[in-house]
Amino acid sequence: MTVKRVLFKEEVLSVKSIANEVFVLSFARDFEFRSGQVISLDLVADGQPRLYSIASGEKDNEIEILFDEKPDGRLTPLLSVLKPGDTIFVSEPFGTFQCDKQEAMWIAAGTGVAPFVSMLRSGLGQNKTLIHGARWDENFYFSQKIENMLHDKYIRCCSQQEDTAYFRGRLTEWLDSQTKLSIDIQYYLCGSAEMVVQVRDILIKKGIPFQNIISETYF
Ligand SMILES: Cc1cc2nc3c(=O)[nH]c(=O)nc-3n(C[C@H](O)[C@H](O)[C@H](O)COP(=O)(O)OP(=O)(O)OC[C@H]3O[C@@H](n4cnc5c(N)ncnc54)[C@H](O)[C@@H]3O)c2cc1C
Repeated sequence: MTVKRVLFKEEVLSVKSIANEVFVLSFARDFEFRSGQVISLDLVADGQPRLYSIASGEKDNEIEILFDEKPDGRLTPLLSVLKPGDTIFVSEPFGTFQCDKQEAMWIAAGTGVAPFVSMLRSGLGQNKTLIHGARWDENFYFSQKIENMLHDKYIRCCSQQEDTAYFRGRLTEWLDSQTKLSIDIQYYLCGSAEMVVQVRDILIKKGIPFQNIISETYF
């Protein structure tokens, strides 16, 4: 992926805390994008921007970014304390992590759910199953929206919360236990490098052709 470094000035509309150290930042949409794409973002025009998936629908008035704060990170501790009216710099959208209307399985860890939320909000939810892995129940971001659209095709795997109402364990354990994964559909993976590699290994072991596995790695 070629990172876009030309950044344009935008005004923050809001930064909302939605879980411990997890935030949604929004600004007005003044460009077109395809769901699944990312933007570069920074507080200065000529720094070292970080990449973020767009979580909004393609026709929404606002661009939303879902991010978790890395306490020792360079950018996210600064993003989480932004106020309405503050300035950020963002690139034009880019990236090829895009999905069509065909049946597919979406597999996300943590904030890696963002591009799938964008796809859902852009009308691509039909024939899709979303597997979302998270540590705690509060980390199933946008879950109400997702549940309303995907119903029983929304599988939550919660690794840390003992009294979770969902599958108790990592999403890799859930995938490992499946005996009927279709080999004819596309699998879209989004999350950390470790998660992407582990999930890819499981899918290949289960007979999914390599070319049916499309991934977006957050590094
Ligand atoms: C395609 C793509 C899409 C992404 N989308 C999202 C998204 O939607 N939401 C999201 O939250 N994130 C996303 N990310 C990750 C995001 O770009 C940032 O990496 C993340 O927000 C951390 O930025 P930061 O500046 O706060 O932390 P950084 O300064 O980048 O640090 C990140 C972590 O690495 C550690 N670290 C930094 N430097 C070193 C070093 N030299 N040695 C060892 N450890 C070090 C830090 O302590 C910290 O824990 C995406 C990444 C990619 C590539």
